[in-house]
Amino acid sequence: MLSAARSLCQYGFQVIVFEKNSRAEYRAGEHVVPECKPLLKELKRPANIVQDNAATCYAIRGTWGDDKLFFRDSIFNVYGEGFLLSRPDFDNDLLNFVKSSGIKIKSNLCVTDISKINEKWTISYQGNVGNDFVLTDYLLDASGINTKFFNRLSEKN
Ligand SMILES: Cc1cc2nc3c(=O)[nH]c(=O)nc-3n(C[C@H](O)[C@H](O)[C@H](O)COP(=O)(O)OP(=O)(O)OC[C@H]3O[C@@H](n4cnc5c(N)ncnc54)[C@H](O)[C@@H]3O)c2cc1C
Repeated sequence: MLSAARSLCQYGFQVIVFEKNSRAEYRAGEHVVPECKPLLKELKRPANIVQDNAATCYAIRGTWGDDKLFFRDSIFNVYGEGFLLSRPDFDNDLLNFVKSSGIKIKSNLCVTDISKINEKWTISYQGNVGNDFVLTDYLLDASGINTKFFNRLSEKN
């Protein structure tokens, strides 16, 4: 979500991020595959965001979806090694960098509805101080696999 916001900002868009959870909550995912390195570079983020919060990872062994172990050795990968992140620290540093790019982050707000009227998106949300909405030209739903608003096969409006 934060990477998408930063990329859009680099293309000159004014971006607002609505985030239901606070950054303090647990997030799954610690390993960054080597193929992500060029994408991280494109964000033009300070090098220390990775250096301070990650250890180099030369190989991974795992299982996903069935009981077979797979093994990936970085020596066979053109992008080299991956990383093992401290996810809370990495997320926090990335958040501060994204904020410093001029992106507005609205945390602890739940998007409750979206609709498109006359080429404008209405994004309704609920926060500690009640309900409100914003109008935008574009909308990017990065609310993950449990999204309420879109699915892989259809698009609302
Ligand atoms: C056990 C486990 C281990 C994993 N390990 C790895 C790993 O080692 N490496 C790896 O690369 N991947 C790993 N993954 C996969 C990785 O976690 C997901 O692919 C990744 O989190 C997807 O990112 P996302 O931004 O699409 O969604 P998410 O990380 O789910 O983020 C969605 C965001 O949307 C917000 N949101 C949701 N609904 C609303 C709403 N209505 N209003 C406002 N905000 C909302 C949420 O607060 C959240 O911040 C793992 C997954 C699991 C389950």
